[in-house]
Amino acid sequence: MRRMALINRRTVLRGGLAGLGAAYALPRAGSTAFAHGSRLFTLGVASGDPGARSVVIWTRLAPDPLLPDGGMTPQPVPVRWEIARDAGMRHVVGRGTTMATPASAHTVHVTVDGLDPDRWYYYRFFARGEDSPIGRTRTFPAPHDACSRMRFGLVSCQDFQNGFYSAYANLAAEDLDFIVHVGDYIYEDGARAGAVRQVVGGETMTLADYRVRHAEHKLDPALQAAHAAFPFIATFDDHEVEDNYAGAISVDAVDPALFLQRRAAAYQAYFEHLPLREAQQPSGAAMQLFRRLRFGKLAAFHVLDTRQYRTDQPCGDGFKPACAGALSPAATMTGAEQEAWLQSGLDSSQATWNVLAQQVMFTKWNLGRAAGLGVPVFNMDAWDGYVAPRQRLLDFLAARTPANPVILSGDIHSAWAANILENFDDPAAGIVAAEFVATSITSDFPVALVPAVQVTLPDNPHIRYFDGLHHGYVRCEVTPQLWRSDYRGVDSILTPVSPVSTLASFVVQAGLSGISAA
Ligand code: FE
Ligand code: CA
Repeated sequence: MRRMALINRRTVLRGGLAGLGAAYALPRAGSTAFAHGSRLFTLGVASGDPGARSVVIWTRLAPDPLLPDGGMTPQPVPVRWEIARDAGMRHVVGRGTTMATPASAHTVHVTVDGLDPDRWYYYRFFARGEDSPIGRTRTFPAPHDACSRMRFGLVSCQDFQNGFYSAYANLAAEDLDFIVHVGDYIYEDGARAGAVRQVVGGETMTLADYRVRHAEHKLDPALQAAHAAFPFIATFDDHEVEDNYAGAISVDAVDPALFLQRRAAAYQAYFEHLPLREAQQPSGAAMQLFRRLRFGKLAAFHVLDTRQYRTDQPCGDGFKPACAGALSPAATMTGAEQEAWLQSGLDSSQATWNVLAQQVMFTKWNLGRAAGLGVPVFNMDAWDGYVAPRQRLLDFLAARTPANPVILSGDIHSAWAANILENFDDPAAGIVAAEFVATSITSDFPVALVPAVQVTLPDNPHIRYFDGLHHGYVRCEVTPQLWRSDYRGVDSILTPVSPVSTLASFVVQAGLSGISAA
């Protein structure tokens, strides 16, 4: 999403908060003052993409994490790992050794197999006589397990410079099974003068740049705590590469061949730093990120990639009246292959809840009244810029009726809940899905825009909730009968730790259409 700056709130905040960043300065290159006290495992541990029998565990060796090579010499280093049933690491059920190599920035991705379904585990790593922090992870229930309950957190958009990860500090303390991250894990822009806390360097362009930027984010103790507490299911959006890129098209009108080199570097660094499976290892500028995970019979997660294959934003991008390009049947958000994969996966799904974990807002949102142009206006980077492929999916949901579709989104730095209509041009049309949009962990939503958005809501009666004043996450609790989404907001991102509270709650009854206030 382009920054929607009517006024530059940051300018105001930065001035008054110059001292805060210094008071909570993260370790800089050369420092060894990390929470765990490790000189090697400075970026913590993580796990991800659980199956019923396996899970990925992750770490990186980085004694000097803000250097492109992490402070490592260019030799492979053996890393031992072990996984246990207890937090004391006494009942070890698996162990092994893998190599951390300079080709992957001395990151380690181990797919641990042979585990029991639906069980918590604890894991750690050893290298050069040091041990890592202990992480906690879990497997998902077996495919035919009916499952009584699943709880997870939905997050997106963690602009490091705009504030502290107080949302993650609270998330790490929640009673959850996993976390779904729908993109903007890093931001590519360079250091901003007066930011709450500054990144090192300018706009990320090279593999070295992206590695340093990922490492800098991973130094945050609250983000480390969330990764150590739960497995993540992650997919990227635009800022992991560049703001609002589309396929091979940069917003800066550079040669697509050159941009694909940058994209390859960004995808490589993203893979290196997220707990993804080997199937997601990029090959050049291509990365197989769309994939499916099953939480027993309770839920199928259809994880989408709406950046890599999309056609360019129509109408010149931004917030615009719909031009012909927004309605073009040649437009695509997912590419044809992923679209077919999604439809066949929905058709064959046995799950009670079919979750589309994806990036940009799916619901129609006409913001014409706020734009004051006397005509409907839409966000061209979201599904509103891709009306034909959205309608194909809506038609599919109406015709094939996969069980209980729920769409999870981020990107817009504000919280939303919406009923997804079979035909958005007919307010009486049937509801075919629910959408829950998480606000940002830290990324900015200009406060001056909040009343402007509120003015548009009567024109969009299927949108049931909007909040643009808070940062936080959505906590979801799902049973075979009921989906509940709690919108959790922190008081402040200007301090590392801040209280969290529930701002609103919505439920969806299985077998019934539509969201209602809890
Ligand atoms: Fe964002
Ligand atoms: Ca985004």
